Amino acid sequence: MSEIHFKHVTKIFGRKVEAVKDLSFIIEDGEYISLIGPSGCGKTTTLRLLAGTIMPTKGRIFFDNTAMENISIQDRNIGFVFQHFAIFPHMSIWENVAYGPSVRGRSKIDIENLVEKALKSLQLSDKAELYPISLSAPEWQKTALARVLASEARILLLDEPLGALDQKIREEFQVFLRNLVKKERLTAIHVTHDQAEALTISDRVVVMNKGQLVQIGSPTDLLFTPNNIFASFFVGESDFLVGVVVDDREKYSEVKVGNNIIKVKNMGIERGKRVVVAIRREFFQIEKVSVEDKTRQDSKLNSLPGVVIQDQFLGLLKRIKIKLENQQIIEAKIHAKNPIHFKEHDNVRVIIDPDSARSFNYPKEGIVSALEM
Ligand code: ADP
Ligand code: MG
Repeated sequence: MSEIHFKHVTKIFGRKVEAVKDLSFIIEDGEYISLIGPSGCGKTTTLRLLAGTIMPTKGRIFFDNTAMENISIQDRNIGFVFQHFAIFPHMSIWENVAYGPSVRGRSKIDIENLVEKALKSLQLSDKAELYPISLSAPEWQKTALARVLASEARILLLDEPLGALDQKIREEFQVFLRNLVKKERLTAIHVTHDQAEALTISDRVVVMNKGQLVQIGSPTDLLFTPNNIFASFFVGESDFLVGVVVDDREKYSEVKVGNNIIKVKNMGIERGKRVVVAIRREFFQIEKVSVEDKTRQDSKLNSLPGVVIQDQFLGLLKRIKIKLENQQIIEAKIHAKNPIHFKEHDNVRVIIDPDSARSFNYPKEGIVSALEM
């Protein structure tokens, strides 16, 4: 068992660098968790607090209800894998993997069993006699993982572990890593700047900003139901429409954006309040409108009128930039195979799916500050 509990953990470096602020969350036994957020938001500090290489300034960390303040790094049952993992170059793979249990004073037979098992699990058995110099980058990371297994760690901390791998190998390794963690019943905490990686590999993802937890949730929670502006902004791509709630029904609210009214899912914001409606760029649909059509109100369609200002090819998707009537520029990401070709100056309507729109109270500090990293 290794449930991890952060209770109001703050870490201040020096006199005032608040690297982590009042962080509270629970990682369940056997969970695969990723930490994402802008550079400097406190991800590595969170891992170091878990490992015990630094101590909280305030708050406490528990592993299975045991407070960690007097538990040394060696006794926390933790293994690490970093981007540039320090494998001993003068030792064979076998010796590298045997290092942990040897230092812990395990018997010769135990060491042999642990190493054989770990190498087998990482598909490195036939490489045991080789030296690190003759291994590929993924094999280095596998050796690092074999070391963790042989040391009998229950918690695996990974800081950008796949950063040195090429994209294709990286994607394969993500699946391999997740399967390994599940098979060995480890609890994994994985820091990455690559949100696609976090969403692929994890049971839940922690989004951080400026040392604080912004949202913790499953990949689908974060993609489809972000619960604040920063999470909508940071995970994937969204646009933000500012408006005022003019009506609220049980399921949907009506929001006035410029001179138009759109229907969005009711998220409990009262009539008369200013709102920010966040919409993922992949969820916008666009339709061409003829000049005659432009003035005709189509009440059935939940849409905003606009003009195309740019059409950009992104590979599988196209990015269409549209200027709305209120002069705001939004971007729709549509499939590159979409048969309709949108070009500059086309009049369009941007159709909004009310169920995918997320509305939040307009932030007191303004949108720009709310999204500041
Ligand atoms: P991340 O891993 O998310 O990029 P870090 O946890 O490394 O962020 O850093 C969070 C903040 O704490 C940054 O502002 C960083 O400069 C600061 N910081 C990290 N380690 C130290 C340290 N040992 N001394 C002083 N400041 C630090
Ligand atoms: Mg870091």
